[in-house]
Amino acid sequence: RGRLQGRRILVVGAGQRVIPEEAPPVGNGRAISLLFAREGASLACVDLSADAVEQTVAQVGREGGQAFAEVADVAQADAIAPLVERCAERLGGLDGLVLNVGISKGLPLPGQNARDWDQEYAVNVRSHMLFSQAALRLMPAGSTIVLMSSLASLRSTGRNPAYESSKAAQVSLARSIAAAGEALGIRCNSVLPGLMDTPMGRDASRRRPGRAAAVPFGRQGTGWEVAYACLFLTSDESSYVNAHALQVDGGLAYG
Ligand code: NAD
Repeated sequence: RGRLQGRRILVVGAGQRVIPEEAPPVGNGRAISLLFAREGASLACVDLSADAVEQTVAQVGREGGQAFAEVADVAQADAIAPLVERCAERLGGLDGLVLNVGISKGLPLPGQNARDWDQEYAVNVRSHMLFSQAALRLMPAGSTIVLMSSLASLRSTGRNPAYESSKAAQVSLARSIAAAGEALGIRCNSVLPGLMDTPMGRDASRRRPGRAAAVPFGRQGTGWEVAYACLFLTSDESSYVNAHALQVDGGLAYG
């Protein structure tokens, strides 16, 4: 029996960006989807990229799991509540939400402009609020919400202000969602990955080589290590854990 047997879960940002590598690393969203399906959940997988999310769903299917894809741009605020309702209907209910979607434009303060700033906040913060609000209306007691933040929320480099401040805002938002869920028996926590060897992380490491040397473990983490943290926070094993921000960073926060 899987740790998420019978759970119906919406994963947002379930694809992963395509990078020109022979064997690209697994992204957080794909690892979460594959792991959750292996643990018995049925999944609604949402992403902007039809190719990426269909690849995730196809891989879940090849492994004997259950998932369907929905293509959506989460920066479109009005589309979110109807999307959550449609996913819940197709799943036959909704017991879990994982908000992995996030973008980073990597713009330092002098290069920042209102349009790029608003886009990062729309995807990284506003969409998480709107998905959670819609899900709280539908989910029964015992359900869970996980927000994918970043270690950048605690330890910002100052070089990527929209991304880093939006990730700090997410941790605060997760506490507000947890507060709204208290009376409903719905928990909300956030996960703070550090330097991960995912497509997004590999891209960032290329821009700033040598960063992994700062990690006490001496290596980047993997999408699977993020996915296992999400699995814990989504399963009943974490039934007394709420409004928590779980670092998955090889000790970098204190390194
Ligand atoms: P990724 O870029 O591979 O995956 C993000 C997914 O979100 C992609 O499939 C993309 O198509 C989708 N997406 C982007 N904009 C969207 C939109 N408007 N609507 C719908 N879908 C959209 O990145 P990843 O490395 O798997 O990271 C995922 C999450 O983990 C992000 O929230 C990121 O901030 C967080 N994170 C990553 C790292 C890292 O080093 N990789 C570190 C800390 C936190």
